[in-house]
Amino acid sequence: MSDRPLLGMTVEEMEDAMRARGLATFRGRQLARWIYLRRAADFEEMTDLSKDLRARLSRDLTITDVRELGRWVGSGGAATKYLVGLGDGSAVESVLMRYDYGYSICLSTQVGCAFACPFCASGAEGLHRDLTAAEIIGQWYLAQRRLDERGERISRLVYMGSGEPLDNYENVLDSMRLFHSSGGPGIGYRRMTISTVGIVPGIRRLASEDIPITLAISLHAPNDYLRNRLVPANRTYPLAEVLAAAAEYARDSGRRLTFEYAMIKDVNDHPDLARELGILLADLPCHVNLIPFNAVEECPWEPSDRQAIDTFERLLSMAGIGVTVRRSLGSDIGGACGQLRRRFGED
Ligand code: SAH
Repeated sequence: MSDRPLLGMTVEEMEDAMRARGLATFRGRQLARWIYLRRAADFEEMTDLSKDLRARLSRDLTITDVRELGRWVGSGGAATKYLVGLGDGSAVESVLMRYDYGYSICLSTQVGCAFACPFCASGAEGLHRDLTAAEIIGQWYLAQRRLDERGERISRLVYMGSGEPLDNYENVLDSMRLFHSSGGPGIGYRRMTISTVGIVPGIRRLASEDIPITLAISLHAPNDYLRNRLVPANRTYPLAEVLAAAAEYARDSGRRLTFEYAMIKDVNDHPDLARELGILLADLPCHVNLIPFNAVEECPWEPSDRQAIDTFERLLSMAGIGVTVRRSLGSDIGGACGQLRRRFGED
């Protein structure tokens, strides 16, 4: 009997898999502990299972079909990029980031992306396919296994890698439920962030769930005219609708919103735009992250000057908006945003 890989199953599903084999139900919880809490990669590591049972399980079950294809350390050790191979031969990337509070991992949700923001490498070739919840969790598992060697732990998840999380709603939500579940990896909803181009029906649906994650909106512009160019999804879901849905999310979840704004030289970094943004966001419980633009091959745009970023930050601050200039981690290892996978695909 073969089954889907264990990593990605809930504890209940592991229990069912054991029962289906005529084994005791508690074996399911035992497997979950080995896989989610001890990151076992082989049944042989599961020393409280008899030798016969280990042999039997390894005959007809696999732990995971994701694997580490490569790993690059950058930003003086603060960022590590993983190229993660999937069962069908495709690959995605994830980035582990070290902050003062601990480790955070940036997870991909799709192979490619359908939303074609002109400055983002992920969308350059369109959408290939959705990731399964197991493949999303697999990215965490590979990086966490490496950290286990040093006794360190990933405490935050950001769904900000390749793909659009709200375009793969079910699988993304399943992965979050599993991360949060008892018997799972034990990462709570409050330590998870989803970043979206602003898919209004997805935001509304998220607001109706009782899941207090942080919602981050990729804003990049304070008006439809400019945002239509930077985030083409804005033509389907214009700014006013995105902000109304985001406000609803903030109200229902009690969580402050995050707005991401990539600072692109002479494109969206003029002081007038900072003033416009300050007015636009004045009534929302939110925080703005200014991200130094990451240069990508297919796009002629450049990062804003330090001075332009400082002025933009100061103007937002004066408008009463919480704002942080995000450290640009990983630009020396091919950034995030699909750059590595594409390079890998070309070799
Ligand atoms: N599709 C989702 C999540 C993936 S992109 C979204 O759009 O939010 C994660 C973030 O990286 C988004 O804010 C995106 O606009 C930003 N991004 C993509 N390419 C970038 C680049 N070259 N430089 C800086 N930020 C970039």
